[in-house]
Amino acid sequence: MNQSQQTIEPWLRGIIRCPQCKGEVVDSVDPTGGADVTELRCDTCHLAYPVEGGVPVLLVDLARRTDG
Ligand SMILES: [Zn+2]
Repeated sequence: MNQSQQTIEPWLRGIIRCPQCKGEVVDSVDPTGGADVTELRCDTCHLAYPVEGGVPVLLVDLARRTDG
């Protein structure tokens, strides 16, 4: 019973873009969120979007700033 993977579906990962700048995002791990918290980081906007249960939350309001 180990179904709670944080991985994103490949087809979905391929079409994900930053909702703010429409640029590509890179896989990252939230250093403040514990061991296996995945996020998608935009180095252009200095924002990191959380991934909850394998579902990316592409909302600027919920993104974590990475330049602070
Ligand atoms: Zn961006």
